[in-house]
Amino acid sequence: MDLGLKGKVALVAAASRGLGRAVAEELAAEGASLILCARNAEALNATRDQIALHTGAAVVAVPADVTVPQDIAQVVSVGREQFGHIDILVNNAGGPPAGKFESLSREQWETATRLTLYSAIELTRLVLPDMKEQRWGRILNITSIAVKQPVENLILSNTLRAGVTGFARTLANEVAADGITVNNILPGYTRTERVEELAGMMAEKEGISPADFTARWESEIPMKRLGEPREFAALAAFLVSERAGYITGTSIQVDGGWIRSLL
Ligand code: NAD
Repeated sequence: MDLGLKGKVALVAAASRGLGRAVAEELAAEGASLILCARNAEALNATRDQIALHTGAAVVAVPADVTVPQDIAQVVSVGREQFGHIDILVNNAGGPPAGKFESLSREQWETATRLTLYSAIELTRLVLPDMKEQRWGRILNITSIAVKQPVENLILSNTLRAGVTGFARTLANEVAADGITVNNILPGYTRTERVEELAGMMAEKEGISPADFTARWESEIPMKRLGEPREFAALAAFLVSERAGYITGTSIQVDGGWIRSLL
């Protein structure tokens, strides 16, 4: 299937590693040009160079913290300068900290809101005019399985990703007639650096091996294994493609069956 991504320009946020990077790699392999951002310039530039080398894609990297509106504006402006327009936006950021309601301060709620909800709103606000003008656009938010089945001890993520989902579902209808789709993709437990670090930390706390800790997660997943970033990126590439033009307002999980609900 030709996804029709050749010549498209995609802005992928928080893409130096993990799911963001996997999506960027997949889009570049399909012929898209990339604008990438993340906080750490060194890691980001290394990712840019590796993707460009392996795929031959044009890749621009702009160091930025997505919680800072000026940084977001800089990413969009450098991207536009380089490519003239932006066709695809993949909203992503690091995950907010774990914790239960009574362990979290007002400051932590505010920071997490900027990270998980406002970053997606602000990037969308700046990129949407291009999409409306060209009457074609794809907005894809990386959220979480927490949207369909809240995850224990993750009240920040459970709350704010529901906010992103409400935003996306509403916006989807507002811009559908302009040829713009807005969708969410929900990762389950996927083997990224963050998840490996998390397993290492939790294992140390409990005095068990990281493999034994990971096995606990795997036991809750019908497929009995973590997902691979490439498996996630394949759906992302389809959802932002020409071929997915009639799919909007959806939230689709890539979770090996972890979510137990019917819909
Ligand atoms: P990761 O830590 O491996 O990668 C996160 C990326 O975001 C990195 O490139 C990092 O540099 C960048 N980043 C973090 N904070 C940033 C900021 N303020 N500004 C700019 N860039 C920033 O994480 P991941 O596993 O790829 O997860 C990506 C998103 O998906 C997170 O929000 C995470 O909570 C969510 N998620 C992941 C999983 C999973 O199993 N991997 C499951 C559910 C949800």
